[in-house]
Formats: sequence, structure tokens, C-alpha cells
Amino acid sequence: MLKSFAELCLATFKKDQLSSSESELYRHSHDESHHAGVEPDYVFFPESTEDVRKMTEIATQFEISMTAFGVGSGLEGQAIPLQKGVSINFERMNKVIEFSPEDMLITVQPGITRLELNSVVNKHGLYFPIDPGADATIGGMVATNASGTTAVRYGSMRDQLLDLEVVLANGTVLHTGTKAKKSSSGLHLTGLFAGSEGTLGFITEVSLKLHGIPEHSIAATCTFADPKLCAEAANIILMSGIPVLRIEFVDALSIKQVNQYGNYTIPEEHSLFIEFAGMQKAVEEEVLLAESLLEEMGSKRWKVATESTERAQLWKARHEMSYAFRHNKGTQVTDGDVCVPISKLPILVEYARELINESGLQGGILGHIGDGNFHTLIMFDPTSTDEFQKAETINSKLAEKAIEFGGTCTGEHGVGIGKKKYQLKEHGEALAIMKSVKQLFDPKNLMNPQKIFD
Ligand SMILES: Cc1cc2nc3c(=O)[nH]c(=O)nc-3n(C[C@H](O)[C@H](O)[C@H](O)COP(=O)(O)OP(=O)(O)OC[C@H]3O[C@@H](n4cnc5c(N)ncnc54)[C@H](O)[C@@H]3O)c2cc1C
Repeated sequence: MLKSFAELCLATFKKDQLSSSESELYRHSHDESHHAGVEPDYVFFPESTEDVRKMTEIATQFEISMTAFGVGSGLEGQAIPLQKGVSINFERMNKVIEFSPEDMLITVQPGITRLELNSVVNKHGLYFPIDPGADATIGGMVATNASGTTAVRYGSMRDQLLDLEVVLANGTVLHTGTKAKKSSSGLHLTGLFAGSEGTLGFITEVSLKLHGIPEHSIAATCTFADPKLCAEAANIILMSGIPVLRIEFVDALSIKQVNQYGNYTIPEEHSLFIEFAGMQKAVEEEVLLAESLLEEMGSKRWKVATESTERAQLWKARHEMSYAFRHNKGTQVTDGDVCVPISKLPILVEYARELINESGLQGGILGHIGDGNFHTLIMFDPTSTDEFQKAETINSKLAEKAIEFGGTCTGEHGVGIGKKKYQLKEHGEALAIMKSVKQLFDPKNLMNPQKIFD
């Protein structure tokens, strides 16, 4: 007799690997974005690559949609199913498979989070620097090509990858690279899977580059009269060749939010948060040079933090800024995530502030200004369609302008549901090629359908 999907799963996996409990279905229909999806029919918890392979075969046989889930910290609804089916949660695949400190590389399963990974490698003087504000999984970070405050020095997830093990919809298991630090062999499949948002295959192993922890670090903050000046000043720092580890812009409203959220006492003015890291003498020189350059640009309140606790406090506040907006009672938030050539940044930041002010909504601007990437966090009343439309219009205008400036609608959060509408404008003819690639890897359109493009 022909078995149903659930019967076949129960015959293949351990009983506790497939759940249809109300709480699990609910958890897997949400992420940190405002987007709405549907609840999956089942949640599956694989424990090995073989489990993932078998599940893709079974789901393909029954033509059931499959959506991978990390910790659901995505900001564009990527992990929320838009069609019923099975959500594949990688939390049990969170092991270190191979750690080679002398090669400065590590191979992990996708469910390990960035903080868990660092707790393993830090004691060897190494670190994995990519730091989205959430403690995301490595699988989710690869799938969204995440980055964060250190991208100005280390780049994004795509730049950290040596090899991925991937399970395709038809059950094929393949490796996209090698453990060599560089290679000119074959097409760059690793780069293709980075940012593919679980639409092409499931990542079951990730080999990552690690970096030495810098000998010495100094953090500094300063303020400027307006956001545009902050952007121009960041540009000057980069053009002067100072190899900052981080250079972040936070506007006065964002600081006000985080002060309230975390009881900080940071001056509520448009600010740059900077970190210098390397050999002590070099770092001290860099700090002096930066201070004088910024002073010439009209900076105020230059403050240096040399103690590690002080630095940690500063970056903790920075990482909490997004949560500070997001967890404001009675409001929801829409996120902008534009990224442009750095010379265009001052104009775009100024434009963002004008749009927010004109709308009458409350919204902060902050971001990884050294990469030309910034976010708008616009609060709206979820019961008011008018406010939601206004917030969406601001982000739309910014995304369109960023693309006109030769940039992108998303520097790091990904496309998911919210940025699909800009794909044609941004990619033109290349969009058809992307759709053909999807068709090649997933002909039945079962892997995270309707994400990136319809
Ligand atoms: C407060 C806050 C701050 C943030 N700051 C940043 C930031 O600075 N920079 C940044 O880049 N992002 C940021 N984010 C967004 C988010 O943390 C990233 O997008 C992160 O990479 C998502 O990881 P996750 O584990 O939560 O994945 P999820 O959100 O669960 O999933 C994301 C995508 O990955 C896919 N996926 C997950 N695992 C796999 C797998 N094994 N194989 C294939 N596909 C998979 C999912 O299907 C989905 O498409 C922030 C989020 C929050 C809440």
C-alpha cells in the first residue's frame, strides 16, 4: 500500500525528528521581519547530511515544498514558507566537523551559531569576524550572504567560504570547493550558493576561513552636526588608507532608542563608532591620524575606549540598536538595507532623512557606512495601513535611488519576500539567467518557492 508523506518519514527517521505541534508550526512561520507567510505542515529536524538527503528525496517524491530554517533572525522573510510543506530546521546539525588552527580553517555543520563557533576558535587566538546583529546560524548566514560591522575589513560571508557541502532537491550531495585558500578551478559554485536563500540546495557543511585576533584594539566615537557629514567623514578615513576594523554610522534617534532600551548614556547626536585593530604602535598612530582628520571635518566629542570592557559595551549597544527599534511596544519596523558606491553615500543618507521627516513617522538611520551600506528602521503602527504604506514608500524610494546610483536594494539582509520587486530593475537581463539556474537546480520549484523571484 502506498504510504503518505508522514508515514514514510516516520518509517525513515526517529519519531522526534518530525513535528506538527502547534508551537513548532507557529515558530517556523515567523522570522524577525514584518512579512507574513504560512505555517508549514511539518517541521523536520535533520541530524546528518544523510537525513537531509533522504528528506529531499521523500519531499520531491510527494512534491512537497521545503524551506530551510536557521534561527529565524532574517529580516526579509526568507525562512517563512509561502507555501505549505516542510520546514527544515538545522538546529541539531550544530557540530564542528574539523578544526585546523594551523590552517586557520574550520568545517562546521550549518546549525552552529556564530557565537558558538567563536567560543571554539577564540581560545586558539583565532576568530570568525562576520557579525550580523543576531546570533545567527552559519547556514543562515551563508544562505543570505550576511555581513555586519567588520565587513569593511573582512568582506561578507561569501568572502569567508572555502567549500560547501550541499544537498540538491533530487538528493545529490556535492561539494562546491576545496580546502585550499584559493583556486582557479571550475565555476564558482560556492559563490552561487552564498546568498541563494535556500532556493537552490540545502547547505549541510561549511568550510570557513578564520582570522587571527588582532593584538591590540582601540574604539573611538565622535559626533557631527548632521548625518551627511558623518558619511563624508567616514569616506575621508577610508581614503586616507586607515585600515579600520569597523566604522559605523548611528544617527541621534537610533542612539536615543538604544539608550532607552539598554540604559546606556551615549550622547544622543549623529555619531561615528570606529574600531582600530592591529599591532599596538600602528593602531595608536592610526587613532591619532583619524582624530586629526575628523577634527578638520568638524567632529565633536572625540572619545577613545582602550579598555576591553568599554569597547565591548560600545559594540553591545551598537548590536542592540536594531532590537531597540524592533522591540518597541505597539510598533513594528520596516528595514531598509541599501548599499551604494561610497561616494554616493552622503547624498543617499541625506535623502533618507528627508523622506523620513516628510512622512511624519519616527525612524532611525544607521549602518555599516564604510561599505556604503546603511539601514533605515522605520516604526509604524501595525494597525494603520496608512503608516505601513508610508514606511514602505520610503524604503522603496531609497532602493530605487540606490539602484540608480549603481548600488543595490540589499547590501546584506537579502531579497526574501520584501526585495523581490527590485530584482528586474537591479539585474536586468541577468534575472532571466538566474531563473534558468533555479530551474536547473530545482526543476519542480520545491526549495523555498517564491523567494528572490516568483
Ligand atoms: C537585530 C538584528 C540585527 C541584524 N543585523 C544584521 C547585520 O548586521 N547584517 C546582516 O547581514 N544581517 C543582519 N540581520 C539579519 C539576520 O541575522 C541574517 O540574515 C542571518 O544571516 C540569518 O540567519 P538565520 O540563522 O537566522 O537564518 P534564517 O533567518 O532562519 O534563514 C535565512 C535564510 O537562510 C536559509 N537557510 C538557513 N539554513 C540553511 C541551510 N542550512 N541551507 C540552505 N539554506 C538555509 C533559509 O531558508 C532562509 O532563506 C539581523 C537580524 C536581527 C534580528
